[in-house]
Amino acid sequence: MSRVRHELKTSEPSQEMLDKIVRAREAIANQEARYIKCPYCRHNSFVVYGDTKGHVQSKCSKCGRITVFDVLNMRRVRRRHFSI
Ligand SMILES: [Zn+2]
Repeated sequence: MSRVRHELKTSEPSQEMLDKIVRAREAIANQEARYIKCPYCRHNSFVVYGDTKGHVQSKCSKCGRITVFDVLNMRRVRRRHFSI
C-alpha cells in the first residue's frame, strides 16, 4: 500500500508567521474553546474560542460539506443537553 498520494508538500513558515502562530497559541491559552458540530453529520467540525466573532466558514473533514456559521448567533443558543 502506497501512501504517497497523501503526502503534503510543506515548507517552514516565515519567522514573522511563526511569531504569529506562537502569539495566537498564547492568546487562546486562557480562553474557552467550543466545538462547533457539523449540522449534517454531527462531526466536531472545528473549534472556536472566546474571542471568535462573526462568520466563519468550515469544510467538514468527515462529510466534506461546507457550512458558514454565525459564531455570535450560535453562542446565544447554548445547548443544555449534551448527547454523549
Ligand atoms: Zn460533516
